Amino acid sequence: MTERAIDRAITPQAVSDGAGVRLRRSIATPQLDHLDPFLLFDHFGSEDPDDYVAGFPMHPHRGIETVTYMLDGSVEHRDSLGNSGTIGAGDIQWMTAGSGILHEEMPRVGPRRLDGFQIWVNLPARLKMSRPRYQDVPAARIPEITRPDGARIRVVAGEMEGTAGAVREIEADPQYLDVALPAGGSFELPVPRDHTALLYVFEGQVEVGPPGKAARPVEAPRLLVLGKGDLLRARAAGGAARFLLLSARPLHEPIARYGPFVMNTEGEIREALAELRAGTFIKA
Ligand code: FE
Repeated sequence: MTERAIDRAITPQAVSDGAGVRLRRSIATPQLDHLDPFLLFDHFGSEDPDDYVAGFPMHPHRGIETVTYMLDGSVEHRDSLGNSGTIGAGDIQWMTAGSGILHEEMPRVGPRRLDGFQIWVNLPARLKMSRPRYQDVPAARIPEITRPDGARIRVVAGEMEGTAGAVREIEADPQYLDVALPAGGSFELPVPRDHTALLYVFEGQVEVGPPGKAARPVEAPRLLVLGKGDLLRARAAGGAARFLLLSARPLHEPIARYGPFVMNTEGEIREALAELRAGTFIKA
């Protein structure tokens, strides 16, 4: 087996999006436009409601999947298909926008912090105009592995040591794990060789790579783009550490993106905008 090493370490950029939500962005920046099939990686976290309360009022999506995973606080959502609900602490929402939805995502002012992630995963050309769908999984239904050393691994999607993730039947065949390691704890997982893989460190410091040859510990917050290989090894350096591990099959297709639309050609983007103006964006 070949172990994956760190290819690039990306420092998240402070950006403002929606109606004025301040967040940390690691993918969809001048530094890293995309990491096929990942199109965006946002980390929001603040104790100050002014940083997030404006939220993301009604907006469209087409051609992608948006994946929202909350650690603390909650986001209320409602959409053009008639769905509505709350994504609370520990919950995941995997939304396949397909041919198009209009939705709003409004963080609720809570007693504590707002903390969470949104990533966008690309859809292949043949599924870009597919029927929109959701997988909403409450925290209690996300399998959690607790090891004797105190490590805790939530299997959001994919598989870990025979435990299947909560989110199923996603085209990109993703792995999405939330890994909390105690001081000195280590983590090992086979990752399909042809998959793009990344690790987002959001607490503590993490070492990645073969023992003895690992790169220097990387401190949160940092997105690590992993190089080729079929095995991932990570260790908590210093104190406890927590990270997301994501992998998925790349598409190798042309990308035309404009805000919340990601298609294969500029013509398809113009079509989406024209349909939005004409009121024919949402398909039955
Ligand atoms: Fe959205």
